[in-house]
Amino acid sequence: MSTLYPPNLQPAALDARASLLIGGQWREATHTLTLLDPSSGQALTQVARGGAAEIDAAVQAAQAALVDERPEAWGRWSAAERGRLLQAIGRAVAEHAPTLAHLEAQDVGKPLQQGLADALALARYLEFYGGAADKVSGETLPVARDLTAFTLREPHGVTGHIVPWNYPMQIIGRSVGAALAMGNACVLKPAEQACLTALAFAHLAQAAGLPPGALNVVTGLGEEAGAALTAHPGVAHLSFTGSVAVGRAVQRAAAEHTIPVTLELGGKSPQIVFADADLDAALPVLLQAGLQNAGQTCSASSRILVQAAVFDEVARRMAEGYRALRVGPALSRPDVGPLVSAEQQAAVLRCIDVAGPAQVLAQCSLPADLPAGGFYVPPTLLAGLPPEHVLAQEEIFGPVQLLLPFEDEAEAVRIANGTPYGLVAGVWTRDISRAMRLTHKLHCGQVFINNYGAGGGVELPFGGVKASGHGREKGFEALYGFSRTKTVALRHG
Ligand code: NAD
Repeated sequence: MSTLYPPNLQPAALDARASLLIGGQWREATHTLTLLDPSSGQALTQVARGGAAEIDAAVQAAQAALVDERPEAWGRWSAAERGRLLQAIGRAVAEHAPTLAHLEAQDVGKPLQQGLADALALARYLEFYGGAADKVSGETLPVARDLTAFTLREPHGVTGHIVPWNYPMQIIGRSVGAALAMGNACVLKPAEQACLTALAFAHLAQAAGLPPGALNVVTGLGEEAGAALTAHPGVAHLSFTGSVAVGRAVQRAAAEHTIPVTLELGGKSPQIVFADADLDAALPVLLQAGLQNAGQTCSASSRILVQAAVFDEVARRMAEGYRALRVGPALSRPDVGPLVSAEQQAAVLRCIDVAGPAQVLAQCSLPADLPAGGFYVPPTLLAGLPPEHVLAQEEIFGPVQLLLPFEDEAEAVRIANGTPYGLVAGVWTRDISRAMRLTHKLHCGQVFINNYGAGGGVELPFGGVKASGHGREKGFEALYGFSRTKTVALRHG
């Protein structure tokens, strides 16, 4: 098993079966899960299939790390000490970024260059949250002359982190990184399809000096380990990133214990291209934001709204872009890799069928020499479907984008806002006033004008409205979310 991990990842003796990190000890479980390599469909390795008992042990270990009176216990670390450690972990992650990218390529089929970007983003989150850890403070409040009132920011306690398979490293960085910065002790449940970089991260964190119990990892199935984590009374805050259906179940479970929950859910994010836009700047971004990670991205720009006057030109140029794509195994650095699983592949192929051949504006052909069992889908550009069509309303989560024409600003806003989701919107125009009008009218968590994603920007709060969820991760807002306010008032003479 340890050959999976190239030797430069220290400590080298990683065995994926011992994938439960509880109270600083790596353990195996009675049952295992098999991970597949999406590029070939072949078995890759096995990890522990933890369940309620392992989650309970992990929560107890996290609680112990917070109440332990020994000087080295996590609960006794100052904010500056936590910050320094996070930055050290970030440096270790950056040093091992090529290895992490390699693991991600094998585990989820993510093209090597995209996994490298994810690993460096994880390092950057740790650098940012490490630097910010001792800069979050309370305030003093002017109540009365004989009262001194102030607020403290305290950690919640044990935080539960349930992570999906599409961006494990980035999501661990933005949620676990922020939670640790604020002094919480974490229990992380990676997605059952994507465990290896989470485990490698935990090894690196341990090697950098993260004390026992500060981070606990339980690999396992969502309905077993995940559900047990959401139901555990010892958890004080839940951070969930994943599908809307499971997000709702997580919120219901959190309600049983009246604990706060952050939900980062799906999207059907539009990019809106006006006739006055700089198309040379827009076109590569329209494609990249829809096809990165084979379209398995919450903020994927799955709907491209184009003003009628430039619709034909945008359609033609995007179609050319689709035909030029190279699909291939993740380690071959393709433009588009395989999807994560056979289920995901089947679901996306079904969507292309539902659209029908008449709506396929362009489709990239798959090379004949792709490994036979891999989960590949031909990148497909659709047009001619109405905005109310199910494919224009629901996430496809694959390398499929849909072009939708509009006449004017009002229609663009109506189409953009006309789905159950509200995650991200892109606006392409040279008219600053129009860009600002739209910014106020769009129902979503973030608007990008003449760009999409601001290069990842860890400093920028991120989250959704409507079915895309609530709460914000990234930026300082995450640090407020992973802590709570305690108000103190002292009467004096
Ligand atoms: P998913 O909801 O199936 O799984 C996400 C996580 O939840 C996994 O770890 C899974 O094991 C766990 N889980 C499943 N059932 C559970 C249960 N009953 N109780 C507790 N945990 C459970 O989602 P997915 O298919 O892995 O991820 C894709 C979805 O995630 C898409 O909808 C995508 O848009 C969304 N996503 C959102 C963001 C964001 O920041 N908004 C980022 C990435 C992905």
